[in-house]
Amino acid sequence: MELTLPDEAATIALGRRLAQTLPGGLVAFLHGDLGAGKTTFARAFLQALGVGERVKSPTYSLVEGYEIGERRAFHLDLYRIADPGELEWLGLDSLAEPGAIVLVEWPERGIGALPPVDLELSFRHEGTGRAVCFKAHTPAGRRILEATAPP
Ligand code: ADP
Ligand code: MG
Repeated sequence: MELTLPDEAATIALGRRLAQTLPGGLVAFLHGDLGAGKTTFARAFLQALGVGERVKSPTYSLVEGYEIGERRAFHLDLYRIADPGELEWLGLDSLAEPGAIVLVEWPERGIGALPPVDLELSFRHEGTGRAVCFKAHTPAGRRILEATAPP
């Protein structure tokens, strides 16, 4: 599935829509160049889930964790990682907890250190806007895609 995101509001609306369809846990990889809209999407997604505090970009911290009621959410940005081995000290075991919600920017830099992916989103520049294509890898990922598809 592919969608056009003509402006920032469209990226935010997509993040909200996906969050609303979330059944339980999710591991989503967010691909795309710098400025493609990954953090914009992740912030809207996490805020729609009820992360009240301001969602920070994990550009420097690599990972930000949030408690949403009983659920735990993690937002990672691995842009600054040169080797997945660098992730060991971060203690990423909790990412693999059942029910965890995990969003990863630059996931290709963390291969081997990340839990299996349910849904991949690939953002790209398209004119002044963006486009995104989706790839589901698990039944959970497919369910979200089906629920998110525009009418
Ligand atoms: P990334 O995390 O992929 O590097 P960001 O989410 O930080 O990218 O977005 C970079 C810029 O792109 C932000 O200023 C944001 O407002 C803008 N942006 C996000 N989505 C869109 C869109 N669909 N069309 C135009 N600009 C967008
Ligand atoms: Mg970013």
